Amino acid sequence: MVEHAKLRCIDPDCGAECGIERTTPTCPTCAGLMDVVYDWARAHASMGFSGDPMIFQDRNRGFFGAADATGAERLDASGVWRFRELLPFYGSIDNVVSVGEGRTILQPAPVIAKQLGYHASKGGGIYLQYEGMNPSGSFKDNGMTGAFTHAKMIGATRAVCASTGNTSASLAMFAAISGVEAYVLIGEGKIAFGKLAQALEYGATTLQVKGDFDACLGHVREIGEQRPELGIYLMNSVNPFRLEGQKAIMFRVLEALGWEVPDWIVVPGGNLGNCSAFAKAFMELKELSMIDRIPRLAVINAQGARTLDKVYNELGARWNGGRYDKGIVRGEYERMDAAGERASTIASAIEINRPVNLPKALRALDVMDGVVRCVDDKTIMEYKALVGRHGFGCEPASGASVAGAHMLREEGVIGAGERVVCILTGHVLKDPDVVVQYHSGIDTKAGQELAPRGEPTGQKANRPIPVADDIDAIIAALGAG
Ligand SMILES: *Cc1c(COP(=O)(O)O)cnc(C)c1O
Ligand SMILES: [Zn+2]
Repeated sequence: MVEHAKLRCIDPDCGAECGIERTTPTCPTCAGLMDVVYDWARAHASMGFSGDPMIFQDRNRGFFGAADATGAERLDASGVWRFRELLPFYGSIDNVVSVGEGRTILQPAPVIAKQLGYHASKGGGIYLQYEGMNPSGSFKDNGMTGAFTHAKMIGATRAVCASTGNTSASLAMFAAISGVEAYVLIGEGKIAFGKLAQALEYGATTLQVKGDFDACLGHVREIGEQRPELGIYLMNSVNPFRLEGQKAIMFRVLEALGWEVPDWIVVPGGNLGNCSAFAKAFMELKELSMIDRIPRLAVINAQGARTLDKVYNELGARWNGGRYDKGIVRGEYERMDAAGERASTIASAIEINRPVNLPKALRALDVMDGVVRCVDDKTIMEYKALVGRHGFGCEPASGASVAGAHMLREEGVIGAGERVVCILTGHVLKDPDVVVQYHSGIDTKAGQELAPRGEPTGQKANRPIPVADDIDAIIAALGAG
């Protein structure tokens, strides 16, 4: 198929390899996680790539002419595929399924930096990588373009995922534009309506399962991995082609910084695909001598879904060259089962107790000299509001990264002058209910009238002001407001 790319099991004691035409994402020998690996010299010789990152920048000319672009130029309008030499599994450009995803930017946030105790001078401080600007409103589009491209290469016509919301929104969008049948499994409990609305609108067959996200993921893995006769392609982040696309988030961060490596990457941790993809990006760039050092990583869990924080910080799980202590993880899962413990957080995108990429996340923490923290829901909402107040905007899960950047500054783990990139993973409009409740006290589940029923829940609450239908009253209120 593509001679310079193959799949390899990440467990060094297994190390099984197979061609990328494989239709199921996990290792044929041990059922563990796989990486897409490349013969870089061969790939780059065939693509005529010298390792000079300036070619990516030259392709970034905006949308002008994109509508009738043909061939390789069509890919240049994508913030993922203009870096195509760094994810060369796609074979022919005709295979690439793209909607112009990943046209996101790194935003310097000096005012926020100051509030979090950073000196925003000499390039230091807080930078926000604004992934809510993707076509479906979350970073997931970076990965989905990779997985749909692979699905096209192998001729898949049906795709499935379990989702806390954004994966299903992105899958449904890519499926609709590429003529693939979409199936999404949504667990009981929290799903943000912005995300559910997208899955329904784009026409995905949506199953509301009486079980949580972790249970749904178990079911779709069985469908995708153990029932090949159904021919349904698995789109969760256990799929290594998704992680190939998500590497591009780091390529864009580097590009925005003139290929100067920042000091820290701070990212919320849910199923742990993003942090895993980021580390793979940096490992490969280092191997290609395109960067000379690797930034540090901070993964921020929600308090109510802190499996990585627990196994890493309390139980001492470490990557250990791939021979990590599986007993620690198994023991923690058994304990959660025995206690009937379910993930629970307002940040529904990271409400996950059995992160599928946990082994790759341990590798990421090793490669990037990482740390893990968790933050509670109240804190998440305050930092989400802080981001919004400064004109950026994100959903609750993304607020965890900014909260983490503050916590680590206060602990002294991150220095005041360091350059810190926080990933804003999803758009503020994904979960309008929690935003309106935070600011106004309106119980959005109980009705839509604007009269607040309760008290605002947040310290930065910006409460709507009730006013009579009268010009003098309105002018008075403008003065008071
Ligand atoms: C999926 C998602 C996450 C979690 O990312 P992982 O790669 O699963 O760790 C965080 N924030 C948002 C908005 C998401 O959609
Ligand atoms: Zn294996």
